[in-house]
Amino acid sequence: MMTERVCIKCGASLPSTEFYSSNSATDGLRGACKECVRSENRANAKAKPEERNARVKAWRKANPDAWREIQRKARAKRKAKKLAENHKQCCDPIVKSGVGEPP
Ligand SMILES: [Zn+2]
Repeated sequence: MMTERVCIKCGASLPSTEFYSSNSATDGLRGACKECVRSENRANAKAKPEERNARVKAWRKANPDAWREIQRKARAKRKAKKLAENHKQCCDPIVKSGVGEPP
């Protein structure tokens, strides 16, 4: 059965799938709908960048291993991208074959 609940922010009656779950909420769902939570997060990130940075910083400190892993992946991604760009001229099959080259 699909239960509906009313968003405490926008007042819209929406199916429970439109609400994020929350461990602290009594019924396991947040009071505001997903759209309201999203716009709230966006607004917060814009209005208080330093607060967000502080949160990220605290998270990094608490999860150094996870943070290292994220950095490692980002580095590998950047490296692969750069490598692909460097080899575009010599190794790109389209450029190499002459197809798609300007006359
Ligand atoms: Zn809402």
